Amino acid sequence: MDLQNNIATPGVTKELLDKYNIRLSKRLGQNFLVDRNIIDIIVAAGDIGQNDNVIEIGPGFGSLTQAILERLGEGRLFAIEKDDRLVKVLLDLFKDKQLEIINKDVMDIDWTNFLKENNLLNKTIKLIANLPYYITTPIIMGLLEAKVPIDRYVFMVQKEVAERMAADPGGKEYGSLSIAVQYFSSPEIVHIVPSNVFIPRPAVDSAVIKLERNIEPPVLLENEDFFFQIVRAIFQQRRKNIKNGLSKAANIDLDKDLVLNCLDEMGLDKRIRGEKLSIQQIGQLSNLLYLNG
Ligand code: SAM
Repeated sequence: MDLQNNIATPGVTKELLDKYNIRLSKRLGQNFLVDRNIIDIIVAAGDIGQNDNVIEIGPGFGSLTQAILERLGEGRLFAIEKDDRLVKVLLDLFKDKQLEIINKDVMDIDWTNFLKENNLLNKTIKLIANLPYYITTPIIMGLLEAKVPIDRYVFMVQKEVAERMAADPGGKEYGSLSIAVQYFSSPEIVHIVPSNVFIPRPAVDSAVIKLERNIEPPVLLENEDFFFQIVRAIFQQRRKNIKNGLSKAANIDLDKDLVLNCLDEMGLDKRIRGEKLSIQQIGQLSNLLYLNG
């Protein structure tokens, strides 16, 4: 591990690791940011106002936490960290600061209760995190699907995951994750991040992605659950054409003639692959299948 002692504090240092007798955990996705430029890019993407409320998942040694606090005035910062050892460090490093540390597994947070208990309903909330990569998708999808009223998300994720989230129709990155993320939010890749800005270095490149919560969905659906079943069916069978993909899907029982009629009504070639369809087209198709099924 290439640990220096002179990186921006707070942040991971050899002294801190020695002092608190910490060995970093791969299992918890502990790759710490040690580049102030990248930290500033993340924080700038959050466009944090003095009175915003910010939630950070996985503050670690607090390098991003510190940069967020520098932008906040009256607003509050909640930092959710699972690792008890790091919570101890944070309590020491930020003891005089306006930081609310929550020693919990983020997957156990009931977001509706969390916002209620912390008096955050109807306030501007931003969620900013260098996420532990082993649970990136469940964290993000959990928040989006539960329609938690968070206005903006800025995440450091694996580059490949960011590309899938922001993908346009037609390419190999476009799939269920793109549709789900883009139904609930508008994603934008802010910056591609090389692995050398972390200690220890992860095996993959990373990217900062910003998700702005959609106030209106990009397509009006008759039934959201049904739409996501159709999306799954289309992308489970992504090499099949849409007619075969939908009529032979394992997760949903659709009549072949119904599929053909709906494709016809939309003027779509039945040989087209589902991955070529926009979110609006898939939405429209799912509405027709739902209403006529
Ligand atoms: N924010 C720090 C930084 O950028 O240097 C640390 C980021 S590191 C990629 C991920 C952090 O998430 C670690 O501090 C890790 O202990 C914490 N973490 C891992 N799994 C977690 C979970 N399930 N709930 C809350 N925090 C978790």
